[in-house]
Amino acid sequence: MLSYRHGFHAGNHADVMKHWICVLMAQYMAKKDKPYFYIDTHSAAGIYSLNDPLAKKTNEAEKGIQTLWDEKVPAVFKDYMGVINALNPGERLKLYPGSPWFVRQFLRPVDKVRLFELHPQDFQLLRKNFTGDKIVSIEKQDGFAGLKALLPPPTKRAMVVIDPPYEQAKEYQQVVAAIEQALKRFPIGVYAIWYPLINRNDKQKMSETMARKLKNLKPKSFLDVRFWVSGADEEQGMYGSGMAIVNPPWNLEQQLNEGLPYLVEKMGVTENAGFSVEYIES
Ligand code: SAM
Repeated sequence: MLSYRHGFHAGNHADVMKHWICVLMAQYMAKKDKPYFYIDTHSAAGIYSLNDPLAKKTNEAEKGIQTLWDEKVPAVFKDYMGVINALNPGERLKLYPGSPWFVRQFLRPVDKVRLFELHPQDFQLLRKNFTGDKIVSIEKQDGFAGLKALLPPPTKRAMVVIDPPYEQAKEYQQVVAAIEQALKRFPIGVYAIWYPLINRNDKQKMSETMARKLKNLKPKSFLDVRFWVSGADEEQGMYGSGMAIVNPPWNLEQQLNEGLPYLVEKMGVTENAGFSVEYIES
């Protein structure tokens, strides 16, 4: 059963980190002339209204993207904020984009987008948000199966974002299996996997185990970045999040170290907020 709706969480601290990284990665991919596939296995709706009852119920954006709105952000956040500004030409922040929307802004007409979303309502919204976009194709299909079928892509270049809701324990294992298989079919792909840091022993362990298993697949290069707004035992629920990136852009580690102190400063809730960046080459 699909109960997760991203609209409850749009623009929270985890979204800000994830989407900022998506923008940096997409900009890097566009540096080479050769076309590439952008594959988003768990796309959700694409754009969210922060005035909608889902967002209003949790108000998560208030301690997230709202803390950066109206600020003069450091250069490394300029293009991420540019996408949000373009959607919100007025003074107030009303709409917040999702991963497919952010990445789409940096694609060229030669690139291709493959989006997967299972939730009936979010699938409809996603289709509406990308109506008429010729390079985008959207499937109401399991994103893990969709990814497998697309690799290796005809373009021989791909950026993949895997962002499940992690409501079921099996999703942690599905991610590892998907990357293991992806590396066999297409070892030079760029794969970004988001995961939560949650103040509950079982969940925390599952994230840790998943990140370790991904690292142990020994891709050519691997980057694990984490950002937390408080210490693990200070906040209820999700106190931070991580991204495991297989074959990251060469300059990403430096960009993250440059930008993360700003996110800690703006979105940190307690003095134990912080970040880590680990880069490994095999
Ligand atoms: N990536 C989006 C973003 O950053 O804007 C958010 C994705 S949200 C965390 C996860 C989405 O995955 C939900 O909309 C959910 O309906 C969808 N979903 C869950 N299981 C799925 C599956 N097996 N295949 C495709 N979509 C799935």
